[in-house]
Amino acid sequence: GRNHSALHFHQIYIFALSHLNFIRSRVERMSEPWIQAGLRMSLQNLKLNKAMKVLLYPGALAGSVGQRFEAMVERGGPLGELVQWADLSACLTILGHNLTFSTSQQHLIGAAPGRGSCPIKRPLTFDLIYTDYHGLAHLQGAMGLAFQHYQCRFRILDSFGTEPAFNLGSYAQSHGYKTLWGRWGLQPLQYMTMFPHTPDNSFLGFVSEEAARAEVREEELEPETYRKDRIAVVYGKQDYMWQGKSEYVEVISEELETHATVYQPPGHTSNLPSFVRNHGLLTQEHFLRLLRRAKVFVGLGFPYEGPAPIEAIALGCVFLQPQFDPPHSSDNNDFYKGKPTTRQISSQHPYAEEFIGKPHVWTVDMTNRTHVREAVKAILSTEVADFCSKSVPSWPPASALRMHLGPLGQSCVSACRRSNLVCDPALFYHLNSPSAFTSMEQEVNHLFPAYSPWGRHCGLQQEPLLFSCAGSDPSHRRLCPCRAHLPGQVALCPDCI
Ligand code: UDP
Repeated sequence: GRNHSALHFHQIYIFALSHLNFIRSRVERMSEPWIQAGLRMSLQNLKLNKAMKVLLYPGALAGSVGQRFEAMVERGGPLGELVQWADLSACLTILGHNLTFSTSQQHLIGAAPGRGSCPIKRPLTFDLIYTDYHGLAHLQGAMGLAFQHYQCRFRILDSFGTEPAFNLGSYAQSHGYKTLWGRWGLQPLQYMTMFPHTPDNSFLGFVSEEAARAEVREEELEPETYRKDRIAVVYGKQDYMWQGKSEYVEVISEELETHATVYQPPGHTSNLPSFVRNHGLLTQEHFLRLLRRAKVFVGLGFPYEGPAPIEAIALGCVFLQPQFDPPHSSDNNDFYKGKPTTRQISSQHPYAEEFIGKPHVWTVDMTNRTHVREAVKAILSTEVADFCSKSVPSWPPASALRMHLGPLGQSCVSACRRSNLVCDPALFYHLNSPSAFTSMEQEVNHLFPAYSPWGRHCGLQQEPLLFSCAGSDPSHRRLCPCRAHLPGQVALCPDCI
């Protein structure tokens, strides 16, 4: 019975408007898909048990830290956290909760005149408080002893994650887990991360826009709107991120017209190489439009683990990024120093590297021109569903293969389905190898690879055009390339997205 007809930011109480243009425009731009998602949930009778009173307090946007942050946002500073705060606000609103959004430290302690009453009352009127590490310190100051009492109500937006060893103060201290941020002694699941770094924390994530706007695209946009140009977009909003990377960018620009979205102070000329087309910092909407046209999104090594590569991949780009050898970590890297994690960062975006991988993500040695050039060429020659290429399909990855020897007379379609899997013909290439059988022959036969109990005969396929999920025969047990799929659809496998 809830009215989802308007998700506008004025439904949420905002106490410090100036910080929030990015959040506001993201929520407004994406309001339609959020509303649709809310409607679908209510159609499925997924009702809220109880509407909660929730305080959203992004400490990084409050006080003196907030002033620095705000100044940075306009100059290419970090936006990743804002993406999460925007999506969290939208999601909680759509779920029907009662939100208060504040970025005023003064307001928190009731010291701001003319802003209504202080939200932190005793007893606490909020069921939940979403904040971040900066905000925790502010809240501790504002709440005094009540801070301990109510700490189970906190949720901490924590992009990079907090491992248990750093979270428990006494333990961290006595075991040498040095950290600037940890030691709050919350439940590890109260920390909510941008990517699923460790199951010890909760994975909050963010919304990647392509999926959200799919319906709009099909109906409203002309086909040429999502045609790809031969361009690369470099991931780096500030000049310093490009330092020492010119050779790498140059190799890429030999193959692709190279675009950038680097902030340029008024009146300053850029230090970017002359062959780079710089658009200046773009609004998120225009940035995503540029990605939609691009073939490759190029990581420079910083920023680490941001949302932009995922957006780029969702918009059809390949993400090319530097590998780190040795990996970066809190032991050897200023950015990770003091962060409550022992993670070894093997590339700019380990999540993209490990969970997505080729053909969407290529991780290269940035200092090796040949390696970079070959990667770019390979990326440009692997179009999705390229029927001109004679190479082995690169999707899904070989790791998705679940080999099944079907019963006599059954096709691979049904042999896989019996195990709740699907037959994927691309995986025949990984299956149809001499290592599958101890002794065998090669034949042109649509049933192969297969085993025939009569004559104890194993056969491999000689003609890739005859790889068949459908084929069946009463005298053959087919060797089948099955893979798992996500519930409700078969295009994606759990271990290949
Ligand atoms: N972004 C933007 N304008 C630009 C470049 C990026 O609005 O010119 C957005 C982008 O869509 C992404 C967000 O900034 O959602 C965060 O980007 P990034 O991955 O660089 O993470 P950050 O280091 O800013 O946290």
